[in-house]
Amino acid sequence: MFALVFLMVIGTSIWVYFDAKSLGIEKGQPTKNDMGAGGWCACCLLLWIVAFPLYLVTRNKRQSVSDIATRKCPYCAEMIRAEATVCRYCHKDLLPAASARRAI
Ligand SMILES: [Zn+2]
Repeated sequence: MFALVFLMVIGTSIWVYFDAKSLGIEKGQPTKNDMGAGGWCACCLLLWIVAFPLYLVTRNKRQSVSDIATRKCPYCAEMIRAEATVCRYCHKDLLPAASARRAI
């Protein structure tokens, strides 16, 4: 039984390492639970029951963030949602991305 748990922890930690690498999770990024691939792997090895679910949550958050279509605000050059009609940084009115493309 212990060997099975041990193998599962080792296996998932290795998966976490390569998954974090492939997603480009690195130290110093502005996300809340911020560790590099090696950091996540080490945390999973030491404190699997906490670190592994935490990694999955962080991973899903990252994926949902990168799924959202964004564009650059023409006034302040900040990245905003593609369907935004008002810039959340400079509060200027914008054309939605689809109608802006139609106007050209
Ligand atoms: Zn703006």
